[in-house]
Amino acid sequence: MFENLSERLSGVFDRLTKQGALSEDDVKTALREVRVALLEADVSLPVARDFVKAIQEKATGQAVTKSVTPGQQVIKIVHDELVHVLTGDEDPGALKIDSPPAPILMVGLQGSGKTTTTAKLAKRLKEKNGKRVLMASLDVNRPAAMEQLAILGAQIGVDTLPIVPGQKPVDIAKRAKQQATMGGYDVYMLDTAGRLHIDEVLMDEVQAVRDVANPRETLLVVDGLTGQDAVNVASEFDGKVGISGVVLTRMDGDGRGGAALSMRAVTGKPIRFVGLGEKMDAVEEFHPERIAGRILGMGDIVSLVEKAQETIEAEQAERMMKRFQKGQFNMNDLRMQLEQMLKMGGMEGVMGMMPGMGKMAKQVEKAGFDDSILKRQIALIQSMTKKERANPALLQASRKKRIAKGAGLEVSDLNKLLKMHRQMADMMKKMGKMGKGGMLKQAMK
Ligand code: GDP
Repeated sequence: MFENLSERLSGVFDRLTKQGALSEDDVKTALREVRVALLEADVSLPVARDFVKAIQEKATGQAVTKSVTPGQQVIKIVHDELVHVLTGDEDPGALKIDSPPAPILMVGLQGSGKTTTTAKLAKRLKEKNGKRVLMASLDVNRPAAMEQLAILGAQIGVDTLPIVPGQKPVDIAKRAKQQATMGGYDVYMLDTAGRLHIDEVLMDEVQAVRDVANPRETLLVVDGLTGQDAVNVASEFDGKVGISGVVLTRMDGDGRGGAALSMRAVTGKPIRFVGLGEKMDAVEEFHPERIAGRILGMGDIVSLVEKAQETIEAEQAERMMKRFQKGQFNMNDLRMQLEQMLKMGGMEGVMGMMPGMGKMAKQVEKAGFDDSILKRQIALIQSMTKKERANPALLQASRKKRIAKGAGLEVSDLNKLLKMHRQMADMMKKMGKMGKGGMLKQAMK
């Protein structure tokens, strides 16, 4: 999976990582190559363009982290952006199968691997989730397809609906529902007919079946090797039938794999599973992290940069603590604190972590203190000049007006912030005196 794309990208990054300091031109050239590599992997043009743009913005704005090369840092940014582009449902493998018997509708073009995938997922539901599954083929035009599902069912020990020649798809769907209800099945899967191309007749048929079955999940099976076509097919099916997710098959081949990257961005639908071979076990739930790792093939560098960034944060905290111990606490410190709080889950989250602050957290909650207040306070500080941040005593009436206006807020908001700053500065001074092993150190961890 993704071999070609990986190779291309690692070539680009190899050149980057060997250089000590990156110039803007280096990054530009590298990103141009990344874009070409994405397009060759059949990632759609708008997706590739947005992808490269996002990376450029992030790479430009970022301070260089010590102990990793800028090239390594760019790889981390690319990795995170890949995950971002790929990310869909939090738990792609969790099928909605409550309220038994839960219908799952399988749709897709002929040859996409729909029947195989139906059986693979049935086996998974049976073995992983302990569910009783009934499968039914609705492909009345191809008796061989109906036979195929029956054979697979016997092989994996999952029941199939007996074939009644001459029955229409809608009637088979009704019969499947009946049998699933009477037989006490948890799930019934409807393997609809496929055509070679999308046509009206096919869509009408699938819609009719959908209306009868009222499926909990409608999974579109598409051949991952068809690249951009897979994405187009998904858009069409979603528009006509409405799908809840995509299964990309044949991801075991050394295909170009770009479909995976474009799917979410273009269709807005998550990839739920990937097919990785012909065997009945060859299906995996979709993991953006894993796929991004495979595309880049550079997991080591990603974790290296993550560690370096953690170290920087720890150093920052240490520096701040030294300042507090000296009784120094200006607006820049306050801002860092506020930003840290936002990152750590807001006021309540932070207070909850500080020993002895549980009670205060409750008061904070009562006072209606939420994260939007944190954000407004940060905006106020951003609206101050460098000098004002370093020395809040400078803030007289006219300056206050300017600052509040700059943040789109009232002077009274600023006064509250200043009061809080004074109180915190006092508290910090006291805490600082308690020494290194004290509360502050705990809180900064
Ligand atoms: P359908 O017409 O959409 O029902 O397609 P089938 O389920 O009959 O699959 C067509 C062919 O693709 C069969 O030979 C399958 O074994 C094969 N196939 C399905 N999924 C995968 C996959 O993930 N990887 C590989 N390599 N082959 C697959």
